[in-house]
Amino acid sequence: MTFIIAIDGPAAAGKGTLSRQIAELYGFHHLDTGLTYRATAKALLDAGLALNDEAVAERMAREVDLGGLDRDVLSRHEVGEAASKIAVMTPVRRALVQAQRDFSRREPGTVLDGRDIGTVVCPDAPVKLYVTASPEVRARRRHDEILAKGGSADFEAIFEDVKRRDERDMGRADSPLKPADDAHLLDTSEMSIEAAFQAARDIIDTALTRK
Ligand code: C5P
Repeated sequence: MTFIIAIDGPAAAGKGTLSRQIAELYGFHHLDTGLTYRATAKALLDAGLALNDEAVAERMAREVDLGGLDRDVLSRHEVGEAASKIAVMTPVRRALVQAQRDFSRREPGTVLDGRDIGTVVCPDAPVKLYVTASPEVRARRRHDEILAKGGSADFEAIFEDVKRRDERDMGRADSPLKPADDAHLLDTSEMSIEAAFQAARDIIDTALTRK
């Protein structure tokens, strides 16, 4: 049977980097499920379609190709905003969760990261991590990332943005962002990504020996 690692948490908590490192270390397939919501949103934006039509959004969600998710193309800020709007729609979630579950069964193991992996997509995953950090720390990291790439950014605007995205993700009725009861919490506010990676490895190695 395949081995599933579920990683959830709010935007900019460091779960993307952590998930990629873990997948590489264990030789597992990795799916950033946020990209599936982003791909759906981008298809709607590109076609000039409204973001509030559930039937149209569901059709786009069914056409998302998990093999063709391009992080660079999908990382734009407007795409993330649009993604969090269509992510409140139950038919959209149903379609994408189905594709994510199919992916999770790949051998020898998978790492899925998102908002509802441990609670909804893979509730039986033997390892669940909830990676978080304070909104200030997350906004600061995103701000520094943009500056490091030579861009310009306003900290206050990014901070407001992080809080707004949290509200939308935690406040929605269908699959709100929250830790699963059996998730291990990793608060990276005062922890380096390297330390979080070590902590995650210990948790995963323990679960693998029980397998
Ligand atoms: O993680 P990322 O910022 O790429 O996700 C974009 C949006 O997609 C999130 O703000 C969230 O609303 C939605 N999402 C979700 N469930 C997931 C992954 C992402 O609702 N499993």
